[in-house]
Amino acid sequence: MTSIAANLQAVRARIAAACVAAGRSAESVQLLAVSKTWPAASVREAVAAGQHAFGENYVQEATDKAAELAGLGLEWHFIGPLQSNKTRLVAENFAWVHSVDRLKIAERLAAQRPPGIAPLQLCLQVNVSGEASKSGCLPAETALLARAVAALPGLRLRGLMAIPEPSDDPARQREQFAVLRRLRDSLDLELDTLSMGMSHDLEAAIMEGSTLLRIGTAIFGERVKL
Ligand SMILES: *Cc1c(COP(=O)(O)O)cnc(C)c1O
Repeated sequence: MTSIAANLQAVRARIAAACVAAGRSAESVQLLAVSKTWPAASVREAVAAGQHAFGENYVQEATDKAAELAGLGLEWHFIGPLQSNKTRLVAENFAWVHSVDRLKIAERLAAQRPPGIAPLQLCLQVNVSGEASKSGCLPAETALLARAVAALPGLRLRGLMAIPEPSDDPARQREQFAVLRRLRDSLDLELDTLSMGMSHDLEAAIMEGSTLLRIGTAIFGERVKL
């Protein structure tokens, strides 16, 4: 077994155990393998081990990789910071985008999503820890933004995403994920997705209702800093 296959197996076991602890079914949580910085060959290894959905942060890297792997029927999710000059590539090449935090970006994605393909599945990124440097809209802005985005054509608003301030304290991790869950529950929209939980905090995220985990390091190994 390759190390990626073994890592995937270990991650799936962690997810299964966390779901049992949370009293949830394992099918209620989707695993997104975050392949940023890793070559197409690594993605192929994960695919051979049964992984289907992949997350990427850099538009050019992702579209090159997706082109190389076209034909495998993979589902690509854009999860990185999104500038207006890159929205077209995202609208044309991804099934999902998790990192929308401004109406202007959503409007561009809506206008640029090619007709005749499935709507772009979208999450709004929320800054749940209040760090000034973080991307994401503020919790207090989310309801208005969600209502505006939900009305756009070519998109389907699925839920909320957060990247909490890193913490080794499970209580602190859960507190931040709970902010996102409560915010989602407070919105007057049908949102089935909470994109939250990474390699070091997936258990806390599952306890707080995550439906989509974004896992890189625990599957592919430590990334070399670019
Ligand atoms: C890199 C990245 C991840 C994966 O983080 P790991 O700690 O490697 O699991 C998840 N979400 C986003 C938005 C990322 O940029």
